[in-house]
Amino acid sequence: MNIYAHTELSELNKDQLLEYARELQSRVGKFASVEQQLINIRDRLDAEVLIHKQMNAFNEKAFKVNESSAFFQLVAESVVDIFEFEFGIAIQYDARQEEMNICITEGTTIPRYAFHCLIHAFKSKFEVQPDKKVLQFNAGEWQELKVLIPFHQFILAHSINMEADSGIFVAGGILEKGALNYRAIEPQRVNAFELFSKQVIAHFSSHEKTFRIEKSERRLSALANTFLSFGSVPIDNISNITKLAFDMLAPDLVFYKHIGREEPVIFFRDDTIDGHAVVAGGDLDFFYQTRSGSAQDTLVAVDHRFDVFLKGKRDEGSESVTVTQLIRHEGALTGMLGFCFSSTTSVTQEDVQIIGIIGSAITVEEKRQLVRNSLISKNEELSKINGELDNFVYSVSHDLRTPLMAVKGLVNLIDLYKGDEKENLEFFSLIESSIDRMDDTIKEILDYSRNARLQIQPEKVNFQKIVRDAYADVKFYSSHPVALQLNMDEELLFESDRYRLNTVIKNVIGNAVKYADDSKTDSYVAVTTERIGNELHVAVSDNGIGIDARCLNKVFDMFFRASEKTTGTGLGLYISKEIMLKLNGKIGIESAPGIGTTVHISLPVKYLN
Ligand code: ADP
Repeated sequence: MNIYAHTELSELNKDQLLEYARELQSRVGKFASVEQQLINIRDRLDAEVLIHKQMNAFNEKAFKVNESSAFFQLVAESVVDIFEFEFGIAIQYDARQEEMNICITEGTTIPRYAFHCLIHAFKSKFEVQPDKKVLQFNAGEWQELKVLIPFHQFILAHSINMEADSGIFVAGGILEKGALNYRAIEPQRVNAFELFSKQVIAHFSSHEKTFRIEKSERRLSALANTFLSFGSVPIDNISNITKLAFDMLAPDLVFYKHIGREEPVIFFRDDTIDGHAVVAGGDLDFFYQTRSGSAQDTLVAVDHRFDVFLKGKRDEGSESVTVTQLIRHEGALTGMLGFCFSSTTSVTQEDVQIIGIIGSAITVEEKRQLVRNSLISKNEELSKINGELDNFVYSVSHDLRTPLMAVKGLVNLIDLYKGDEKENLEFFSLIESSIDRMDDTIKEILDYSRNARLQIQPEKVNFQKIVRDAYADVKFYSSHPVALQLNMDEELLFESDRYRLNTVIKNVIGNAVKYADDSKTDSYVAVTTERIGNELHVAVSDNGIGIDARCLNKVFDMFFRASEKTTGTGLGLYISKEIMLKLNGKIGIESAPGIGTTVHISLPVKYLN
């Protein structure tokens, strides 16, 4: 408090004036330091506003990318741009196998051989400090890492999405050589970095689903287009589809070998594999050996024998994976489709499913080739096979593409709405049901090809159990309750092909549930059996919506649907008819619209009681 503040200056003596002047000077000094502090705060706020603006810009860009590696490229660049770091790193890895899927660096590089141990090292740092989302290290605090990245300061964020088995690391910092040119990392930047890494994770988990769907969509469209462009020479078609498999699944090697043909169809990655050695080595015995006698048609195996053909490019610690698909004609083995993956990419369920579809296409083409080769005058069989092929092509193009297009539309909508969580959930559930439909079609096509390929396998059958299990599987096909009535012996035991019989019963009971009349309160499906000589007669009746008389003779045709009521595939009864043909049985149907439907089945069996 200035004691002279209210005194006229002229009333003060010299000493008092001096004292007053000193007092004023010290106050000016204080003001200057407050002003400096204010300037510092303003600069800091400016810097924070800038960071948030840049984060918004990152968000906008992140919404637009539609592919994982482009997204992580953006993340690594943004770490450098937003936080004024010298380098940025974005990593996405498979949390189950601790394998790196994507590693993008900006301003530094990491050698490939270090990928695996890097994830391990990063994870262990978080394990000792589980409550931290972001860790910061100064030079000297982490010597092992400095060998890989000569850092002066290093900052690291981590998150795991258990649902998708996926983990993310985002890192950035300053290198030793740049230490003098860059500001030391201050707490605000650490906080902002934590916020940024949270945003990266949020973006990625919502993108991840979209990325996965888009990838499946691209692959299935390519598959459908290849089927549609099939020409009249089966061998060429087989070569085309094998090439597509090579492009699509990116193995190091793919081959298809028909037992009766000298040369295999083979595609391989020139820079990693000595494919000539594989071919020149003559037979592809080791592929057979990888199966070690397994009878499974599709087999995924880890095997190191393949390594002799690799041109020293193999990463330490990675394993070669082979996928083999047996090709049969009427149950007998006629060839093999084989894939070898030597890199760290894992083989997904979808990859295996695609290999199954390609195997089915090859089976159909081989059948056509057989017909071309022989002098068969059985015109009927020829036209049946051709008809089947047309239908098969039709199914892949139409039945797989329709839900695919729906998925595509929904993905575009998600893009448009830019991640409103509630709307996204709705879209994702619509996408899921489209994908389920696609899955149903694929499963039925596989059922069809299994019936065409595999030999009849007689096994002990407990019929009542088959019926009860089938009902348990299908009763939720419709929300309207349909009761099961059984008119048969408790213990009805016989020998027959259980798998095929099961498929037929499940289809027929499934239809009774799907086409129930929901205006009725006593909907039922009744299964009645009768033993006539060495035949089993089964009647499956329902009081559902029934079938129009004009459609009745078409319901056993491939892809025929008489009703718009559900999204059926139109394959169930066709496959059932084919199966009954194979088992020397019969299947028929009678129906009255509004009253109900009965499917009659008769089948030769070997009774056990
Ligand atoms: P989907 O997958 O369409 O059910 P199916 O081959 O099993 O294919 O049946 C062909 C068509 O026959 C169905 O689309 C349906 O219109 C009709 N259908 C089959 N079973 C019944 C039934 N029990 N009641 C009424 N309609 C049926």
